Amino acid sequence: MKLCFASNNAHKLEEIRLLVGDLFEIVSPKDLGCTEEIPEDFATLEENSLQKANYINQNYHIDCFADDSGLEVEALNGAPGAFSAMYAGTHGDHKANNALLLKNLEGKTNRNARFRTCITLIKNGQTHQFQGVIEGEILTKKRGEEGFGYNPVFVPKGHQKTFAQMDITERNMRSHRAKALFELLKFLKNEK
Ligand code: IMP
Repeated sequence: MKLCFASNNAHKLEEIRLLVGDLFEIVSPKDLGCTEEIPEDFATLEENSLQKANYINQNYHIDCFADDSGLEVEALNGAPGAFSAMYAGTHGDHKANNALLLKNLEGKTNRNARFRTCITLIKNGQTHQFQGVIEGEILTKKRGEEGFGYNPVFVPKGHQKTFAQMDITERNMRSHRAKALFELLKFLKNEK
């Protein structure tokens, strides 16, 4: 059975194909002929992942799931959240995003934060949502080079190293994305 993952991010697709194994055939939007940008217009992870999954489901008539992730900082009332990728204004400018985050947290003693992923699945006309969370703290300075985004300033609870000081296996094992995917897979396996 075919299931579309509504993202053209090659790394995410590879990670998901590995996890799903031969349970489902995972196809990408490109495989369906979808080369346009998939809309993502909302202010929450739940709404954005639902919008992306709906877009593929309604236009390409296939069961589908989509993800959306972000960093939620307690002292900033959950910001940057769904705006994590473009916190400082330019989509994917991780250096500027980290600099703005550190500036906005200057003098704050509450450094609690979490990464959260929301996955929306649309299967047989039904909508299901799953989430994965990793709790941690934001440092006052960047440490490490690995990965992307807020990795250099995020230390998971109970650890000394930032995400950017962990290798990919160590990081992926406990990531918010992996946890949400695990919940999705549990659901799909039970349904089979
Ligand atoms: P996406 O929904 O997975 O594309 O994530 C949106 C944004 O959240 C990214 O551009 C990053 O700024 C941030 N983000 C999500 N996951 C991570 C992570 O594992 N490490 C660092 N930053 C992340």
